[in-house]
Amino acid sequence: MAFSGGCQCGAVRYRIDGDIGNPHICHCRMCQKASGNYFMPLGWVQRESFTLTRGAPSWFRSSDMVRRGFCQACGTPLFFEPVNSEGINVTLGSLDEPEMAKPTLQSGQGSRLSFFHNLSELPDEAQEVSADWLTAVARKTYQHPDHDTAEWPPKDE
Ligand SMILES: [Zn+2]
Ligand SMILES: [Zn+2]
Repeated sequence: MAFSGGCQCGAVRYRIDGDIGNPHICHCRMCQKASGNYFMPLGWVQRESFTLTRGAPSWFRSSDMVRRGFCQACGTPLFFEPVNSEGINVTLGSLDEPEMAKPTLQSGQGSRLSFFHNLSELPDEAQEVSADWLTAVARKTYQHPDHDTAEWPPKDE
């Protein structure tokens, strides 16, 4: 298997030539803070399968055990790397095709938010409100597309 991914602005891009192991979501409080989300989706990649193809992340040492990599330009959380490990976890939402790595486990369940199980039951926003907003946003975005690019950002557009 091969996967590619990167941050929202495209300054940091990576490639995985191999499998993504243990795709899971972590509810721990540190993952909540690091993602600004209710959980962090992570999957394990062996060192030899992992290549940075553009730029380099910045790192925050969140504990003696772990450092977390993110894009310094746009802030996207990208990596969770245990110290002295033979691999790295990538955030599954940063994959170009997140559908390709379906989570199979939950961890950090002690911090799982009480309403997590109800999220999928929330009502959907009205179709037309949602569509109008997405159309307006799509007129000009600065988000890197979901595939590798030879040159980024594109010259004068
Ligand atoms: Zn970025
Ligand atoms: Zn966690």
